[in-house]
Amino acid sequence: MDFSHVDLSPEDQAFRDETRAFIAKHVTDEVLHRQLQFGENFDEGVHLALGEAGYLASDWKLESEGGFSPVRRRIFQLEIARAHTPWYHWGTTSVVARLVRQFGAPELADRVLPGVLSGEIRLCLGYTEPEGGSDVATCKTRAVRDGDAWIINGSKMFTSNAQNARYVFLLTNTDPRGPKHRNLTMFLVPLDSPGIEIQGIRTLDGDRTNIVYYSDVRVDDLYRIGEVNGGWTVMRAALDSEHGVVEAEDHGLQYIAAMAAHGDLMAEVVDAVAAAVARPGPDGRRPIDDDSVKYRLGRAVARMEAALSTPGMFGRVAVAQTMRDVTPDLMDMLGSASALPTETPGSATDGAAEHLYRLALPLGIYGGTLEVFRNMIAQHGLKLGRPSYGG
Ligand SMILES: Cc1cc2nc3c(=O)[nH]c(=O)nc-3n(C[C@H](O)[C@H](O)[C@H](O)COP(=O)(O)OP(=O)(O)OC[C@H]3O[C@@H](n4cnc5c(N)ncnc54)[C@H](O)[C@@H]3O)c2cc1C
Repeated sequence: MDFSHVDLSPEDQAFRDETRAFIAKHVTDEVLHRQLQFGENFDEGVHLALGEAGYLASDWKLESEGGFSPVRRRIFQLEIARAHTPWYHWGTTSVVARLVRQFGAPELADRVLPGVLSGEIRLCLGYTEPEGGSDVATCKTRAVRDGDAWIINGSKMFTSNAQNARYVFLLTNTDPRGPKHRNLTMFLVPLDSPGIEIQGIRTLDGDRTNIVYYSDVRVDDLYRIGEVNGGWTVMRAALDSEHGVVEAEDHGLQYIAAMAAHGDLMAEVVDAVAAAVARPGPDGRRPIDDDSVKYRLGRAVARMEAALSTPGMFGRVAVAQTMRDVTPDLMDMLGSASALPTETPGSATDGAAEHLYRLALPLGIYGGTLEVFRNMIAQHGLKLGRPSYGG
Protein backbone atom coordinates (compact mmCIF):
# COMPACT_ATOMS: atom_id res chain seq x y z
CA MET A 1 0.00 0.00 0.00
CA ASP A 2 1.32 3.43 -0.94
CA PHE A 3 0.68 6.24 1.57
CA SER A 4 2.61 8.91 -0.35
CA HIS A 5 1.17 12.30 -1.22
CA VAL A 6 -0.83 12.47 -4.48
CA ASP A 7 -0.11 15.47 -6.72
CA LEU A 8 -3.14 16.16 -8.88
CA SER A 9 -2.56 16.83 -12.57
CA PRO A 10 -4.16 20.06 -13.90
CA GLU A 11 -6.85 17.88 -15.52
CA ASP A 12 -7.63 16.12 -12.23
CA GLN A 13 -7.69 19.46 -10.40
CA ALA A 14 -10.19 20.71 -12.97
CA PHE A 15 -12.23 17.52 -12.45
CA ARG A 16 -12.20 18.10 -8.67
CA ASP A 17 -13.34 21.71 -9.07
CA GLU A 18 -16.11 20.75 -11.50
CA THR A 19 -17.29 17.93 -9.25
CA ARG A 20 -17.24 20.17 -6.18
CA ALA A 21 -19.25 22.86 -8.00
CA PHE A 22 -21.69 20.25 -9.33
CA ILE A 23 -22.29 18.81 -5.88
CA ALA A 24 -22.62 22.27 -4.30
CA LYS A 25 -25.26 23.12 -6.90
CA HIS A 26 -27.32 19.98 -6.32
CA VAL A 27 -26.79 19.09 -2.65
CA THR A 28 -28.58 22.19 -1.40
CA ASP A 29 -29.59 23.11 2.16
CA GLU A 30 -33.08 21.99 1.21
CA VAL A 31 -31.79 18.53 0.24
CA LEU A 32 -29.90 18.26 3.54
CA HIS A 33 -32.92 19.42 5.51
CA ARG A 34 -35.09 16.78 3.81
CA GLN A 35 -32.50 14.16 4.69
CA LEU A 36 -32.69 15.23 8.34
CA GLN A 37 -36.50 15.06 8.29
CA PHE A 38 -37.00 11.79 6.41
CA GLY A 39 -33.67 9.92 6.74
CA GLU A 40 -33.97 8.32 3.31
CA ASN A 41 -30.26 8.58 2.44
CA PHE A 42 -31.50 9.21 -1.06
CA ASP A 43 -32.63 12.24 -3.05
CA GLU A 44 -34.11 11.60 -6.45
CA GLY A 45 -33.16 15.02 -7.85
CA VAL A 46 -29.52 14.61 -6.83
CA HIS A 47 -29.41 11.01 -8.04
CA LEU A 48 -30.86 11.80 -11.47
CA ALA A 49 -28.52 14.77 -11.83
CA LEU A 50 -25.53 12.52 -11.05
CA GLY A 51 -26.81 10.08 -13.66
CA GLU A 52 -27.37 12.72 -16.32
CA ALA A 53 -23.91 14.20 -15.80
CA GLY A 54 -22.35 10.75 -16.27
CA TYR A 55 -21.02 10.39 -12.72
CA LEU A 56 -23.01 7.20 -12.01
CA ALA A 57 -21.71 5.51 -15.17
CA SER A 58 -18.11 6.57 -14.46
CA ASP A 59 -18.36 5.36 -10.88
CA TRP A 60 -19.96 2.03 -11.81
CA LYS A 61 -17.62 1.12 -14.64
CA LEU A 62 -14.09 -0.13 -14.16
CA GLU A 63 -11.38 2.12 -15.51
CA SER A 64 -10.83 -0.39 -18.34
CA GLU A 65 -14.52 -0.03 -19.28
CA GLY A 66 -14.31 3.77 -19.45
CA GLY A 67 -14.94 4.45 -15.75
CA PHE A 68 -13.07 6.75 -13.38
CA SER A 69 -9.31 6.43 -12.93
CA PRO A 70 -8.41 5.56 -9.29
CA VAL A 71 -7.54 9.24 -8.61
CA ARG A 72 -10.84 10.54 -9.95
CA ARG A 73 -12.79 7.82 -8.15
CA ARG A 74 -11.20 8.94 -4.90
CA ILE A 75 -11.84 12.63 -5.61
CA PHE A 76 -15.47 11.81 -6.40
CA GLN A 77 -15.93 9.72 -3.22
CA LEU A 78 -14.42 12.44 -1.04
CA GLU A 79 -16.47 15.25 -2.55
CA ILE A 80 -19.69 13.24 -2.23
CA ALA A 81 -18.88 12.45 1.42
CA ARG A 82 -17.81 16.00 2.36
CA ALA A 83 -21.10 17.42 1.12
CA HIS A 84 -23.06 14.81 3.18
CA THR A 85 -24.78 13.82 -0.07
CA PRO A 86 -27.72 11.55 0.82
CA TRP A 87 -26.42 8.77 -1.33
CA TYR A 88 -25.48 5.67 0.65
CA HIS A 89 -27.83 3.39 -1.29
CA TRP A 90 -25.91 3.83 -4.54
CA GLY A 91 -23.45 1.22 -3.23
CA THR A 92 -26.29 -1.32 -3.09
CA THR A 93 -27.58 -0.51 -6.57
CA SER A 94 -24.06 -0.66 -7.91
CA VAL A 95 -23.23 -4.09 -6.44
CA VAL A 96 -26.57 -5.65 -7.42
CA ALA A 97 -26.27 -4.29 -10.97
CA ARG A 98 -22.91 -6.06 -11.29
CA LEU A 99 -24.50 -9.33 -10.12
CA VAL A 100 -27.33 -8.90 -12.63
CA ARG A 101 -24.73 -8.54 -15.37
CA GLN A 102 -22.73 -11.51 -14.06
CA PHE A 103 -25.52 -13.98 -13.22
CA GLY A 104 -28.74 -12.68 -14.85
CA ALA A 105 -30.17 -13.30 -18.32
CA PRO A 106 -28.63 -10.91 -20.90
CA GLU A 107 -32.15 -9.69 -21.75
CA LEU A 108 -32.71 -8.70 -18.12
CA ALA A 109 -29.32 -6.98 -17.88
CA ASP A 110 -30.15 -5.00 -21.04
CA ARG A 111 -33.43 -3.96 -19.50
CA VAL A 112 -31.98 -2.86 -16.16
CA LEU A 113 -28.45 -1.52 -16.61
CA PRO A 114 -29.11 1.58 -18.75
CA GLY A 115 -31.64 2.80 -16.15
CA VAL A 116 -29.18 2.12 -13.32
CA LEU A 117 -26.57 4.30 -15.01
CA SER A 118 -29.03 7.08 -15.80
CA GLY A 119 -30.25 7.01 -12.18
CA GLU A 120 -33.85 6.12 -12.99
CA ILE A 121 -33.59 2.53 -11.76
CA ARG A 122 -32.53 1.86 -8.18
CA LEU A 123 -32.06 -1.58 -6.63
CA CYS A 124 -32.42 -2.67 -3.01
CA LEU A 125 -31.56 -5.76 -0.95
CA GLY A 126 -34.12 -8.22 0.41
CA TYR A 127 -32.11 -10.71 2.48
CA THR A 128 -33.05 -10.18 6.12
CA GLU A 129 -36.27 -11.67 7.50
CA PRO A 130 -38.24 -10.76 10.61
CA GLU A 131 -37.07 -13.91 12.40
CA GLY A 132 -33.37 -13.27 11.92
CA GLY A 133 -30.89 -11.81 9.49
CA SER A 134 -27.39 -12.84 10.52
CA ASP A 135 -27.79 -16.36 9.23
CA VAL A 136 -29.35 -15.37 5.90
CA ALA A 137 -29.33 -18.96 4.66
CA THR A 138 -32.21 -19.80 7.02
CA CYS A 139 -34.43 -17.83 4.59
CA LYS A 140 -38.13 -18.77 4.78
CA THR A 141 -39.54 -16.60 1.99
CA ARG A 142 -40.77 -19.17 -0.52
CA ALA A 143 -40.62 -19.13 -4.29
CA VAL A 144 -42.62 -21.90 -5.99
CA ARG A 145 -42.41 -22.64 -9.69
CA ASP A 146 -45.58 -22.08 -11.72
CA GLY A 147 -44.94 -22.74 -15.44
CA ASP A 148 -42.65 -19.99 -16.74
CA ALA A 149 -43.05 -18.00 -13.56
CA TRP A 150 -42.59 -18.18 -9.78
CA ILE A 151 -45.00 -17.39 -6.96
CA ILE A 152 -43.35 -15.69 -3.99
CA ASN A 153 -44.68 -15.53 -0.42
CA GLY A 154 -42.98 -14.22 2.70
CA SER A 155 -41.70 -11.06 4.36
CA LYS A 156 -38.40 -9.23 4.54
CA MET A 157 -37.20 -6.93 7.29
CA PHE A 158 -35.01 -3.83 6.77
CA THR A 159 -35.30 -3.56 2.97
CA SER A 160 -33.68 -0.13 2.90
CA ASN A 161 -34.62 2.27 0.10
CA ALA A 162 -37.38 -0.04 -1.23
CA GLN A 163 -39.62 3.04 -1.41
CA ASN A 164 -37.30 4.56 -4.03
CA ALA A 165 -36.27 1.39 -5.84
CA ARG A 166 -37.63 -0.28 -8.99
CA TYR A 167 -36.44 -3.80 -8.09
CA VAL A 168 -35.52 -5.79 -4.98
CA PHE A 169 -32.69 -8.33 -5.09
CA LEU A 170 -34.59 -11.03 -3.26
CA LEU A 171 -33.31 -14.12 -1.49
CA THR A 172 -35.86 -16.94 -1.56
CA ASN A 173 -36.09 -20.55 -0.51
CA THR A 174 -36.95 -22.83 -3.43
CA ASP A 175 -36.56 -26.19 -1.65
CA PRO A 176 -37.47 -26.11 2.06
CA ARG A 177 -36.50 -29.77 2.48
CA GLY A 178 -33.23 -29.36 0.59
CA PRO A 179 -29.80 -29.00 2.22
CA LYS A 180 -28.90 -25.61 3.71
CA HIS A 181 -27.13 -23.31 1.22
CA ARG A 182 -28.35 -25.49 -1.69
CA ASN A 183 -32.03 -24.56 -1.50
CA LEU A 184 -31.83 -20.82 -2.22
CA THR A 185 -32.62 -18.87 -5.38
CA MET A 186 -32.15 -15.15 -6.09
CA PHE A 187 -34.58 -12.96 -8.03
CA LEU A 188 -34.68 -9.36 -9.13
CA VAL A 189 -38.32 -8.69 -8.29
CA PRO A 190 -40.08 -5.63 -9.76
CA LEU A 191 -41.38 -3.73 -6.74
CA ASP A 192 -44.53 -2.62 -8.56
CA SER A 193 -45.68 -6.27 -8.82
CA PRO A 194 -49.16 -6.93 -7.38
CA GLY A 195 -48.94 -8.48 -3.89
CA ILE A 196 -46.04 -6.36 -2.59
CA GLU A 197 -46.59 -4.06 0.36
CA ILE A 198 -43.86 -1.74 1.65
CA GLN A 199 -44.13 -0.34 5.19
CA GLY A 200 -41.69 2.29 6.46
CA ILE A 201 -39.66 1.95 9.68
CA ARG A 202 -37.53 4.69 11.30
CA THR A 203 -34.36 3.63 13.10
CA LEU A 204 -32.71 5.11 16.20
CA ASP A 205 -30.55 7.45 14.12
CA GLY A 206 -33.53 8.70 12.08
CA ASP A 207 -32.89 6.59 8.98
CA ARG A 208 -35.78 5.20 7.01
CA THR A 209 -35.88 1.50 6.20
CA ASN A 210 -38.80 -0.87 5.48
CA ILE A 211 -40.53 -4.14 6.11
CA VAL A 212 -41.80 -5.63 2.85
CA TYR A 213 -44.58 -8.23 2.55
CA TYR A 214 -44.85 -10.57 -0.45
CA SER A 215 -48.26 -12.23 -0.96
CA ASP A 216 -48.61 -14.46 -4.04
CA VAL A 217 -46.25 -12.25 -6.03
CA ARG A 218 -45.88 -13.60 -9.56
CA VAL A 219 -42.47 -13.15 -11.17
CA ASP A 220 -41.40 -14.33 -14.61
CA ASP A 221 -38.44 -16.72 -14.71
CA LEU A 222 -36.56 -14.01 -16.64
CA TYR A 223 -36.03 -12.27 -13.28
CA ARG A 224 -34.17 -15.21 -11.74
CA ILE A 225 -30.53 -14.35 -11.00
CA GLY A 226 -28.31 -17.43 -11.17
CA GLU A 227 -29.26 -21.09 -11.04
CA VAL A 228 -32.33 -22.54 -9.32
CA ASN A 229 -31.08 -23.57 -5.84
CA GLY A 230 -27.76 -21.91 -6.75
CA GLY A 231 -28.58 -18.65 -4.99
CA TRP A 232 -25.83 -19.07 -2.42
CA THR A 233 -23.17 -18.64 -5.11
CA VAL A 234 -24.76 -15.32 -6.10
CA MET A 235 -25.22 -14.28 -2.44
CA ARG A 236 -21.60 -15.09 -1.62
CA ALA A 237 -20.40 -12.72 -4.34
CA ALA A 238 -22.70 -10.01 -2.96
CA LEU A 239 -21.72 -10.59 0.66
CA ASP A 240 -17.98 -10.73 -0.06
CA SER A 241 -18.22 -7.33 -1.67
CA GLU A 242 -20.30 -5.94 1.25
CA HIS A 243 -18.03 -7.48 3.88
CA GLY A 244 -14.80 -6.18 2.34
CA VAL A 245 -13.23 -9.59 1.77
CA VAL A 246 -12.45 -8.79 -1.86
CA GLU A 247 -8.80 -8.15 -2.71
CA ALA A 248 -7.69 -4.54 -2.22
CA GLU A 249 -6.07 -2.88 -5.21
CA ASP A 250 -2.49 -1.74 -4.73
CA HIS A 251 -2.88 1.93 -5.76
CA GLY A 252 -3.77 2.81 -2.17
CA LEU A 253 -6.51 5.26 -3.13
CA GLN A 254 -9.62 3.36 -2.18
CA TYR A 255 -11.17 3.29 1.29
CA ILE A 256 -9.03 1.10 3.51
CA ALA A 257 -11.81 -0.16 5.80
CA ALA A 258 -15.00 -1.82 4.55
CA MET A 259 -18.06 0.46 5.02
CA ALA A 260 -15.64 3.30 5.74
CA ALA A 261 -17.73 6.20 4.44
CA HIS A 262 -19.13 6.70 7.94
CA GLY A 263 -15.57 6.96 9.18
CA ASP A 264 -15.29 10.24 7.25
CA LEU A 265 -18.27 11.51 9.19
CA MET A 266 -16.63 10.50 12.46
CA ALA A 267 -13.44 12.36 11.44
CA GLU A 268 -15.49 15.47 10.71
CA VAL A 269 -17.24 15.33 14.09
CA VAL A 270 -13.98 14.77 15.97
CA ASP A 271 -12.56 17.86 14.20
CA ALA A 272 -15.66 19.89 15.05
CA VAL A 273 -15.42 18.88 18.72
CA ALA A 274 -11.68 19.71 18.76
CA ALA A 275 -12.50 23.20 17.42
CA ALA A 276 -15.38 23.66 19.89
CA VAL A 277 -13.34 22.75 22.99
CA ALA A 278 -10.58 25.16 21.92
CA ARG A 279 -13.00 28.13 22.11
CA PRO A 280 -13.32 30.01 25.41
CA GLY A 281 -16.64 29.50 27.22
CA PRO A 282 -18.69 32.29 28.91
CA ASP A 283 -16.27 32.17 31.88
CA GLY A 284 -13.32 32.76 29.53
CA ARG A 285 -11.91 29.24 30.10
CA ARG A 286 -11.24 26.82 27.25
CA PRO A 287 -12.40 23.22 27.88
CA ILE A 288 -9.23 21.96 26.16
CA ASP A 289 -7.13 23.39 29.02
CA ASP A 290 -8.66 20.73 31.26
CA ASP A 291 -6.35 17.68 31.31
CA SER A 292 -9.23 15.23 31.18
CA VAL A 293 -10.62 16.89 28.00
CA LYS A 294 -7.13 16.80 26.45
CA TYR A 295 -6.79 13.14 27.31
CA ARG A 296 -10.20 12.13 25.99
CA LEU A 297 -9.90 14.17 22.82
CA GLY A 298 -6.42 12.74 22.17
CA ARG A 299 -7.73 9.22 22.72
CA ALA A 300 -10.67 9.84 20.35
CA VAL A 301 -8.34 11.16 17.63
CA ALA A 302 -5.93 8.23 18.02
CA ARG A 303 -8.75 5.65 17.98
CA MET A 304 -10.34 7.28 14.95
CA GLU A 305 -7.08 7.43 12.98
CA ALA A 306 -6.33 3.79 13.82
CA ALA A 307 -9.85 2.72 12.75
CA LEU A 308 -9.64 4.58 9.45
CA SER A 309 -6.32 2.86 8.72
CA THR A 310 -7.53 -0.66 9.52
CA PRO A 311 -8.14 -2.70 6.36
CA GLY A 312 -11.15 -4.58 5.03
CA MET A 313 -13.47 -6.39 7.43
CA PHE A 314 -11.13 -5.64 10.37
CA GLY A 315 -11.70 -1.96 9.58
CA ARG A 316 -15.47 -2.40 9.42
CA VAL A 317 -15.39 -3.54 13.06
CA ALA A 318 -12.83 -0.89 14.06
CA VAL A 319 -14.82 2.03 12.56
CA ALA A 320 -18.18 1.07 14.10
CA GLN A 321 -16.73 0.02 17.47
CA THR A 322 -14.66 3.22 17.68
CA MET A 323 -17.73 5.28 16.89
CA ARG A 324 -19.61 3.57 19.71
CA ASP A 325 -16.69 4.04 22.12
CA VAL A 326 -15.71 7.65 21.44
CA THR A 327 -19.09 9.35 20.93
CA PRO A 328 -20.05 9.39 24.66
CA ASP A 329 -16.70 11.12 25.34
CA LEU A 330 -17.23 13.60 22.49
CA MET A 331 -20.66 14.53 23.81
CA ASP A 332 -19.39 14.73 27.39
CA MET A 333 -16.61 17.17 26.43
CA LEU A 334 -19.18 19.48 24.86
CA GLY A 335 -21.44 19.47 27.92
CA SER A 336 -25.21 19.14 28.13
CA ALA A 337 -25.83 21.25 24.96
CA SER A 338 -24.43 18.29 23.01
CA ALA A 339 -27.64 16.37 23.72
CA LEU A 340 -29.64 18.78 21.55
CA PRO A 341 -30.14 17.52 17.99
CA THR A 342 -29.24 19.25 14.72
CA GLU A 343 -31.21 22.39 13.82
CA THR A 344 -32.07 23.00 17.51
CA PRO A 345 -31.08 26.44 18.85
CA GLY A 346 -28.24 26.15 21.35
CA SER A 347 -27.05 22.68 20.25
CA ALA A 348 -23.29 22.09 20.39
CA THR A 349 -21.63 21.39 16.99
CA ASP A 350 -25.18 21.69 15.59
CA GLY A 351 -26.00 18.24 16.96
CA ALA A 352 -23.27 16.47 15.00
CA ALA A 353 -21.87 14.53 18.00
CA GLU A 354 -25.35 13.57 19.16
CA HIS A 355 -26.23 12.26 15.70
CA LEU A 356 -23.00 10.28 15.53
CA TYR A 357 -23.82 8.75 18.92
CA ARG A 358 -27.18 7.52 17.61
CA LEU A 359 -25.68 6.37 14.32
CA ALA A 360 -23.04 4.22 16.03
CA LEU A 361 -25.53 1.55 17.12
CA PRO A 362 -27.16 0.75 13.75
CA LEU A 363 -23.79 1.14 12.02
CA GLY A 364 -22.66 -1.92 13.95
CA ILE A 365 -25.73 -3.87 12.81
CA TYR A 366 -26.41 -3.28 9.12
CA GLY A 367 -24.30 -5.08 6.57
CA GLY A 368 -23.68 -7.71 9.29
CA THR A 369 -23.38 -7.16 13.06
CA LEU A 370 -20.05 -6.59 14.78
CA GLU A 371 -20.38 -9.93 16.57
CA VAL A 372 -20.85 -11.73 13.26
CA PHE A 373 -17.89 -9.84 11.77
CA ARG A 374 -15.72 -10.79 14.73
CA ASN A 375 -16.61 -14.42 14.08
CA MET A 376 -15.73 -14.01 10.40
CA ILE A 377 -12.39 -12.44 11.33
CA ALA A 378 -11.65 -15.30 13.74
CA GLN A 379 -12.71 -17.97 11.31
CA HIS A 380 -11.56 -16.64 7.92
CA GLY A 381 -9.01 -13.93 8.78
CA LEU A 382 -7.22 -15.65 11.67
CA LYS A 383 -8.09 -19.23 10.58
CA LEU A 384 -9.25 -20.20 14.07
CA GLY A 385 -11.93 -22.59 12.80
CA ARG A 386 -15.70 -22.46 13.16
CA PRO A 387 -17.07 -21.09 16.44
CA SER A 388 -18.45 -23.74 18.79
CA TYR A 389 -21.37 -22.74 20.98
CA GLY A 390 -21.63 -26.20 22.53
CA GLY A 391 -20.01 -25.08 25.84
C1 LIG B 1 -30.72 0.47 9.44
C2 LIG B 1 -30.64 -0.91 8.89
C3 LIG B 1 -30.67 -1.10 7.54
C4 LIG B 1 -30.62 -2.40 6.99
N1 LIG B 1 -30.74 -2.56 5.63
C5 LIG B 1 -30.88 -3.82 5.14
C6 LIG B 1 -31.19 -4.01 3.76
O1 LIG B 1 -31.28 -3.06 2.98
N2 LIG B 1 -31.42 -5.27 3.33
C7 LIG B 1 -31.34 -6.37 4.16
O2 LIG B 1 -31.55 -7.48 3.70
N3 LIG B 1 -31.01 -6.21 5.47
C8 LIG B 1 -30.79 -4.96 5.97
N4 LIG B 1 -30.54 -4.78 7.30
C9 LIG B 1 -30.50 -5.96 8.15
C10 LIG B 1 -29.16 -6.27 8.74
O3 LIG B 1 -28.28 -6.81 7.78
C11 LIG B 1 -29.45 -7.19 9.90
O4 LIG B 1 -30.11 -6.42 10.89
C12 LIG B 1 -28.23 -7.84 10.47
O5 LIG B 1 -27.64 -8.71 9.55
C13 LIG B 1 -28.56 -8.58 11.77
O6 LIG B 1 -29.67 -9.39 11.61
P1 LIG B 1 -30.89 -9.30 12.64
O7 LIG B 1 -31.21 -7.85 12.86
O8 LIG B 1 -31.96 -10.18 12.15
O9 LIG B 1 -30.30 -9.82 14.02
P2 LIG B 1 -30.10 -11.37 14.45
O10 LIG B 1 -29.42 -12.11 13.34
O11 LIG B 1 -31.39 -11.89 14.94
O12 LIG B 1 -29.09 -11.19 15.63
C14 LIG B 1 -29.50 -10.81 16.97
C15 LIG B 1 -28.25 -10.69 17.84
O13 LIG B 1 -27.55 -11.95 17.87
C16 LIG B 1 -26.20 -11.78 17.47
N5 LIG B 1 -25.76 -12.92 16.66
C17 LIG B 1 -26.45 -13.49 15.65
N6 LIG B 1 -25.74 -14.52 15.12
C18 LIG B 1 -24.57 -14.57 15.79
C19 LIG B 1 -23.41 -15.39 15.72
N7 LIG B 1 -23.30 -16.38 14.81
N8 LIG B 1 -22.41 -15.15 16.59
C20 LIG B 1 -22.49 -14.15 17.51
N9 LIG B 1 -23.58 -13.36 17.65
C21 LIG B 1 -24.59 -13.54 16.80
C22 LIG B 1 -26.18 -10.52 16.62
O14 LIG B 1 -24.92 -9.89 16.64
C23 LIG B 1 -27.24 -9.67 17.31
O15 LIG B 1 -26.68 -9.00 18.41
C24 LIG B 1 -30.53 -3.51 7.85
C25 LIG B 1 -30.49 -3.31 9.25
C26 LIG B 1 -30.55 -2.04 9.76
C27 LIG B 1 -30.53 -1.86 11.26
